Amino acid sequence: MNLKDLNERVSAARKETEARGETFYPGPSRVHLAAFPPKERWDDWVELDSRAWPRREERRYALVPTTCFNCESACGLLAYVDKASMRVQKFEGNPEHPGSRGRNCAKGPATINQVTDPDRILYPLKRAGKRGEGRWVRVGWDEVLDDLAGRIRKALQEGRNNEVMYHVGRPGEDGFTERVLAAWGVDGHNSHTNICSSSSRAGYQFWMGLDRPSPDHANARVILLISSHLESGHYFNPHAQRVIEGKAAGAKLIVFDTRLSHTATHADHWLSPYPGSEPAILLAVANYLISRKLYDRDFVRRWWNWEEYMAVEHPELETSFEVFEEVLGGLYASYTLEYAAKESGVDAGVIEEVARLVASAGKRFSSHNWRSAAAGNSGGWQVARTLFLLNALTGAVATEGGVFPNAWNKFVPKPIYSPPHPPKWNELTWPREYPLAMNELSFLLPHFLKDGRGKVDTYFTRVYNPVWTNPDGFNWIDVLRDESLIGCYAALTPTWNETAYFADYVLPMGHASERHDIHSYETHDAQWLGFRQPVLRALRERAGEKITDTREVNPGEVWEENEFWLELTWRIDPDGSLGVRRFAESQKNPGERLSVDEYYTHIFENSVPGLPERAAREGLSPFEFMRRYGAFEISRKVGAVYEQEVPAEELDDERVDRFGRVYTRAAKPATTNVVPFPTPDADSEGRRLVGVRVDELTLRGFPTPSGRLEFYSKTLADWGWHEYAVPAYIKSHVHPDKLNPDQTVLISTFRVPVQIHTRSANAKWLDEIAHTNPLWVHPSHARRLKVETGDLVRVETETGYFVVRAWVTEGIRPGVVACSHHMGRWKLNDGEGQRQLMATVSLDRKGSEWSLKRERGAAPYESEDADTSRIWWADVGVHQNLTFPVHPDPVSGMHCWHQAVRVRKAEPADRYGDIHVDTEKSREVYRAWLQFTRPADTHSPDGTRRPYWLLRPLKPSREVYRLPAEQEPVGSD
Ligand code: SF4
Repeated sequence: MNLKDLNERVSAARKETEARGETFYPGPSRVHLAAFPPKERWDDWVELDSRAWPRREERRYALVPTTCFNCESACGLLAYVDKASMRVQKFEGNPEHPGSRGRNCAKGPATINQVTDPDRILYPLKRAGKRGEGRWVRVGWDEVLDDLAGRIRKALQEGRNNEVMYHVGRPGEDGFTERVLAAWGVDGHNSHTNICSSSSRAGYQFWMGLDRPSPDHANARVILLISSHLESGHYFNPHAQRVIEGKAAGAKLIVFDTRLSHTATHADHWLSPYPGSEPAILLAVANYLISRKLYDRDFVRRWWNWEEYMAVEHPELETSFEVFEEVLGGLYASYTLEYAAKESGVDAGVIEEVARLVASAGKRFSSHNWRSAAAGNSGGWQVARTLFLLNALTGAVATEGGVFPNAWNKFVPKPIYSPPHPPKWNELTWPREYPLAMNELSFLLPHFLKDGRGKVDTYFTRVYNPVWTNPDGFNWIDVLRDESLIGCYAALTPTWNETAYFADYVLPMGHASERHDIHSYETHDAQWLGFRQPVLRALRERAGEKITDTREVNPGEVWEENEFWLELTWRIDPDGSLGVRRFAESQKNPGERLSVDEYYTHIFENSVPGLPERAAREGLSPFEFMRRYGAFEISRKVGAVYEQEVPAEELDDERVDRFGRVYTRAAKPATTNVVPFPTPDADSEGRRLVGVRVDELTLRGFPTPSGRLEFYSKTLADWGWHEYAVPAYIKSHVHPDKLNPDQTVLISTFRVPVQIHTRSANAKWLDEIAHTNPLWVHPSHARRLKVETGDLVRVETETGYFVVRAWVTEGIRPGVVACSHHMGRWKLNDGEGQRQLMATVSLDRKGSEWSLKRERGAAPYESEDADTSRIWWADVGVHQNLTFPVHPDPVSGMHCWHQAVRVRKAEPADRYGDIHVDTEKSREVYRAWLQFTRPADTHSPDGTRRPYWLLRPLKPSREVYRLPAEQEPVGSD
């Protein structure tokens, strides 16, 4: 069928459907037969039972929305609940979701595998032997809650607040748990972000005061991705569909990726640079634009903090824009196309072509970097900073087809309670050596504990598996086994993982259709709120039942974190004397514990602009509306917030400083429907920063110290990193200058499209598609190594080695190797772990030397799911991360993932999956990288631990930002 016929059919179907008074969704196939079920029919949707074929047996479903939890994109799902059995039959896309618009990747529908997984954890378990021994007993939730609450209460009463730590990987929620920790008064939030995205966040934060980009790919003329967004990047499916829309409308796609990703295969220009050289290319493009005056001069004049730069760095020169332009040209003149070609190995002509394309995009230039090169390299935060430089030059900032700061394209509603900032600073997570780190130095925790910097009394992990996901996993095992360092460890998880084996409690939490959360992400130029919910609870409530506890509808005794945290908070402070209980108390029924229904009802009724009115139009309460549709679009086309004029009522006794910052005495407006504009600063007389003066107008500006886009980061300059205060190229730790001749670079960061770090091991459809991670080697490199596809190779890192199979492919830059981090899952004992994707291994330790040996791979097994007897794969990949030491970037705090390795043919005694590591060597590497830092003790310009304006999850109170008066040794509280 050609496009014209298809469009005619779609338009006829639209007319027919709308004539029936129903909403028409064209659906991803653009054919009405495959269209989404109209929302008017979600109560009773009829489909033929495919298993009954050739009989035509009808099945009746109630369709209940929820949100996928298999990556950070939070796409909408529709659960098809069989009305006869009240079981979820399948998951498809929710067309009412503004971000994903009914579309999902393979991992969304695979949620059903996770729900029905025969190996899932259904009951709370308590360790019966030593940690890691594999002996467990089933316990009741009451016992668990009383034990944990008692420990935490004692810690709070004894002032050991910093010994309570919550370590989260994928939060998938709006800050609920951060507020729980604030209610307890602990600075106990720890995250995975410094092994994930903090490098890129730093690059964006130093520019615009907000740490994520929100590209408008669909309307771009040119799209530049330093990532693999069409298969796995950040906000992957929502962005991927918009990248394709942009391409369909004629946009050119440029992809930087050393590896031929699926995304690269769709590029008009695929550049395969030497790892870490990306900023050199980007600065050459910038130089091309600057030297030819192909940039948006008026935008740069109005919105860059060039006046501050000139005043601080060039006081000898006249402060005029024209003089600044001359200085700017000089700054980047050395970044010629030839220089970039030499650094990257990409042909100068190709770079020039890319530069021409960028210049041709005007304000419709969208770009994105998240993990990828930023996550791989020391100084990787400059990848994002130099990439955004191109947007800042072209003026493609919050324009149609440009890049928005994330906060303007997401919405975080005010919750029912906002506990005060905790009056504590936890140096185990925010050590003084890293005052500018974007996130917690989470991956250094084992080293800090071994150094005696502190200990953890009660440790929670949630959606996190540091033994497997982090570098240096054996050091994690060391500290997890040591009860003097970690007193009690509770793993909150729906599935087994390599860290949970060493827990005291394994606590089963729900999958995407078994829990409540709200979230909003920057998928495009709009603001929306999504609602994840236990679908059977929603359905039974729709039928008039009263459900007060999600365990009533979940399998076994699987719970959800919202109710768990509320109940735990309630029990920590049973009489309210600690001042904690009030944050878990019902407002409607004082004296009773807050319910999740009341929690979300309050938010939806009071804090989401437009939702009450929209719900009322359908005769629903806001809570019922969200239960029924799972998402709400708050606004569309938010536009350039920085250009908004500050209204007169927000200006009172205003003062304008020499760089155009406008300060006011007017109070902040109380309304919640304005885009958040954090004020990073106040003047000496207590006025707050409200905007910037631009061409005689007072405009909102950016939430940076200068109120403008910070080409020049005075923060970086003031805190000891003067040489990097403007976008620059930092040679990576794997730059050729730093490698020995027999070393090469291992790219270890890439995802496979159908797996998730930890939680997809129990998704049989996904496991069948992808279950191994061979080493990508270019044919020319393979010839030198004398290996062919399938041969075993030994990859030696600084601290050990792993043995993996080679995959000889032209899809990798010659001389560089790559291995996906998604594979190599393992289990120690029968009864633990996922049998579909975990090898059974043995661990051995001699002094500081550890080895992991694979005893057997995956194999078919009998279970209530007949498919488990059909498992045909044994190979589940190799756990390479165990062999990586920590590489904390001294500025961003990000672990720099790329490894300098030696690759050679395996030795005769080597077996597939062998791992060998010396943890003492890992300690040495940690100590070496610590020397690169510029600690707050010696570099803070104002006696504080960290610039207050920088974002920080769970920000503590302002007083504790101050360094202790007497210089205590680094590491004390
Ligand atoms: S991109 Fe895929 S895994 Fe991620 S939320 Fe969407 S459907 Fe789920």
